[in-house]
Amino acid sequence: MKILKFGGTSVGTPERMKDVAKLISDGSRKIVVLSAMSGTTNSLVEIADYMRKRNVESAGAMIGHLRSRYKKHIPNLYDTDEGKQKCEDFFKEEFITLQRLASQDFSETTEKAILAQGEILSTHMLTFYLQEQGIRVRLISALDYMRIDADAEPMMMPIYDYWSKLLAEDTETEVFLTQGFICRNAQGEIDNLQRGGSDYTASLIGAALHLEEIQIWTDIDGMHNNDPRFVEGTRPVRQLHFEEAAELAYFGAKILHPTCIQPARYAGVPVRLLNTMQPDAPGTLINNVMQPGVIKAIAAKDNITAIKVVSSRMLLATGFLRRIFEIFERYKTSIDMVATSEVGVSLSIDNDSRLTPIVEELKKVGTVEVDQDMCIICVVGDLVRENKGFLGHITSAFSDVAIRMVSYGGSNHNVSFLVRKEDKQKTLQALSDTLFTD
Ligand code: ADP
Ligand code: ASP
Ligand code: MG
Repeated sequence: MKILKFGGTSVGTPERMKDVAKLISDGSRKIVVLSAMSGTTNSLVEIADYMRKRNVESAGAMIGHLRSRYKKHIPNLYDTDEGKQKCEDFFKEEFITLQRLASQDFSETTEKAILAQGEILSTHMLTFYLQEQGIRVRLISALDYMRIDADAEPMMMPIYDYWSKLLAEDTETEVFLTQGFICRNAQGEIDNLQRGGSDYTASLIGAALHLEEIQIWTDIDGMHNNDPRFVEGTRPVRQLHFEEAAELAYFGAKILHPTCIQPARYAGVPVRLLNTMQPDAPGTLINNVMQPGVIKAIAAKDNITAIKVVSSRMLLATGFLRRIFEIFERYKTSIDMVATSEVGVSLSIDNDSRLTPIVEELKKVGTVEVDQDMCIICVVGDLVRENKGFLGHITSAFSDVAIRMVSYGGSNHNVSFLVRKEDKQKTLQALSDTLFTD
């Protein structure tokens, strides 16, 4: 059995939903995970933002726009009066729920309940369509099995328990349809797996049930060798090792949620990236195979802050790095890159929400320098040190760029460079020209 996840653009219009319906009704039993229709989660974020600013009127107006946008889909998606009526009744109920949530005082809990509505809408719409088409479909609420613990980590056991019982009991259903992204937290409230988290949902279910394959269907023919939003002439990479894909996802390749490869890798379930607009294209297969000596792809992660701590007391002292790392741990801020010398350490973080108290504490240890608006450029492939010369080849692309930090050796699959945000595009292009031009 396979699991197939369709992203926002893949279900972005009634026509696309019909294409998805065709793809998933081939007679085989499968689990299908859907995102919200493209643009919906952004609209819901805006509604929650108006609530936060106590602008009830604008929140209400945005809900009105969203509702008329959705109502227009009804005649384009359903053929029968019954199908149209079912969807109309559902929308009525759903938008009343949204209005009720938006009329409450703002809280993070209400915000998350609002953000969850996008996936609830899209999965119901497709379920009604598949029912109209006579497909044996069953809609399963992700809120019944997807949980995160107190540290916001997804829990595998509830997924396994719920789905193994369901699949054993229900041998009739062809398509089990469920929401990506949404879950319940340790308090039982509606929560989510962070933006882009529908990929993660699919990977978690695929891994918990040890399915045959996890398919991520999107709007591009697999993982490209560089970010197609910034670089010209990128090409699809046909195969990646789990580690390579995990590094690329973590370091900014938007096609995959940053942590979605981890569960698949631990369970050894292959992941395939496919294109809904071109279903016959081969896409990218992610598995346990490493192609020796090949540089596969480049990715970039924005909004990075670099922090340098210098102290002559570090010279020959023990426990200096521990003191520094403990400060980041205390403020639950994870570190991406590290470089050390005898008298200092440079670090990078991607979440600067606790930057002020972190810097205050670091000042007790040494002199602190902060650079914001940086970007990590990450080159991924089989970069074992026996492959002599690869680093020289890569760095030749940086002849016109100031590098703030370099990290290699933490993994055999990645070398990372910290550069200023304004140098990102030209660095990505120069790397593509150097590494991937025939
Ligand atoms: P979905 O809505 O299906 O989840 P996303 O927008 O999250 O789709 O991811 C697909 C997009 O990721 C592509 O349209 C592309 O612009 C972007 N992207 C960024 N880096 C890469 C890459 N290396 N390869 C392919 N796509 C990438
Ligand atoms: N709808 C959510 C988002 O836009 C989750 C997803 O699309 O993966 O972030
Ligand atoms: Mg996505």
